[in-house]
Amino acid sequence: MRPRIIRMPAKLAPFLALAFALAWAAAAQTDWLAPDASIINKFENEGSQHSHVMEVMGYLTDVYGPRLTNSPNIREAGEYAVKTLSSWGLANVHEETWGPFGRGWSNELFEASEIAPRHFPLIAYSKAWTPGTNGPITADAIYAKIEKEDDFASYRGRLRGMFVLTAPMRMVQAQFDPPAHRFTDQELADIAPPRAPQPPPDKEARDRQRKQQEFNEKLVKFLTDEGAVAWLEPAPHDGGTVTVMAGGSRDPKDAPVLPRVAVDVEHYGRIFRTLEKNIPVTLRINIANKSYDENLDSFNIVAEIPGTDKADEVVMLGAHFDSWASGTGATDNAAGSVVMMEAMRILKTCNVKMRRTVRLALWTGEEEGLLGSRAYVQQHFADRISGDLKPEHAKLSAYFNVDNGTGKIRGIYLQGNEAVRPIFEKWMEPFKSEGMTTLSARSTGATDHISFDDAGLPGFQFIQDPIEYDTRTHHTNMDVYERIQVADLKQMAVIVASFVYMTANAEQLLPRKLLSKH
Ligand SMILES: [Zn+2]
Repeated sequence: MRPRIIRMPAKLAPFLALAFALAWAAAAQTDWLAPDASIINKFENEGSQHSHVMEVMGYLTDVYGPRLTNSPNIREAGEYAVKTLSSWGLANVHEETWGPFGRGWSNELFEASEIAPRHFPLIAYSKAWTPGTNGPITADAIYAKIEKEDDFASYRGRLRGMFVLTAPMRMVQAQFDPPAHRFTDQELADIAPPRAPQPPPDKEARDRQRKQQEFNEKLVKFLTDEGAVAWLEPAPHDGGTVTVMAGGSRDPKDAPVLPRVAVDVEHYGRIFRTLEKNIPVTLRINIANKSYDENLDSFNIVAEIPGTDKADEVVMLGAHFDSWASGTGATDNAAGSVVMMEAMRILKTCNVKMRRTVRLALWTGEEEGLLGSRAYVQQHFADRISGDLKPEHAKLSAYFNVDNGTGKIRGIYLQGNEAVRPIFEKWMEPFKSEGMTTLSARSTGATDHISFDDAGLPGFQFIQDPIEYDTRTHHTNMDVYERIQVADLKQMAVIVASFVYMTANAEQLLPRKLLSKH
């Protein structure tokens, strides 16, 4: 998902304003300590000499991946995580139910080839929550040039039993730039200041997008009603990398759609160009997909290290545990889950004293709209509709999140909370030599810290090197174990452990934002 405009329910604002003002005043009076070098050394030693990151990564990806929310895979992965966290001696390890999310879905078999005029196997994937083909189907492909509703008429009655392509072929460019990248000092300096004022949202562009979406829904229904065997869609990316997300509904009550297949653009192009030459193309496709309707609820995974004299106050760290379904969800977001689990393991194993309770949460349903973390915030901290704050709202110091791939930490987004700047400046100091140099005045969106931020709670996401995130792995078939940078995961786990440790032992809760009224 892309960053969105962030808004808090208007009703929360008056309740929170006073709390924030008090917190702000308290923060200003407190002398925030710098990290103790001997503690950081302990964390670094444990994180580098006894790391569990790649062991856990291997299970979350190779063994249990992909982890689509409510799939059998993610339920097994959840059991593995609970068992692993318990084996490390963490307290209160459990799954917390939330829902309803909707049906589970899994791809059980996928075979797709062109068989005439030439044979070649297709790089292609089922879109999540779409049906299978009920056995192998051999049929012709057709390019149906349907760009608007008026075009439906000319294809009515012509698509039954066929594999349908509707998208024109796009240009595919050479990749002159290397796919992997680390932020330069200049790039980090560029994201440190507040974002330049953005132009107001382009209403026409939004209208166009909405209309395109409405048309797409009508097109899916048309192709389904016409009895097409499957809809073949060229996927974003190229070179064998295929972005695959959802193609059907999670709601068992919704009408079923036809099978939808995301095809590697070069293979789509070969079929498309052959059809353009008026040469018939025959494909053989066999897809078995399964839906699971017996439990529509999902779960978050929680584990704790109990605090000492301030045990009723809490510091949270978390990451989303779910993924899309074509790769194994290695960089999005086994990486974040592994880093947060490892940070907990380091804190526990080093047996350092922490005054506040430290709580890990691994979320599901993030890919479908931050659903697991939103449900958790709703259950524990604040009701989004009524604006009512729960007692726990006053007891959370901060929530730290990792969800930008495998790249090491280069800084942290302050999320509009300037009061934490001098504090994080001190906490970041020991890690400057490892590349963590930047406090960004910006807010970043699109992942689970937003659920906390929206409820007026300090929620932070770290700045990470992009590595191959946008160019290769994000939501693609190539989001796999090999794309993980082990040294980066180790660096992240130690930094997260240190930030959580400092938050847990500070004299005060972290200052909260002074919110402007919406
Ligand atoms: Zn993610």
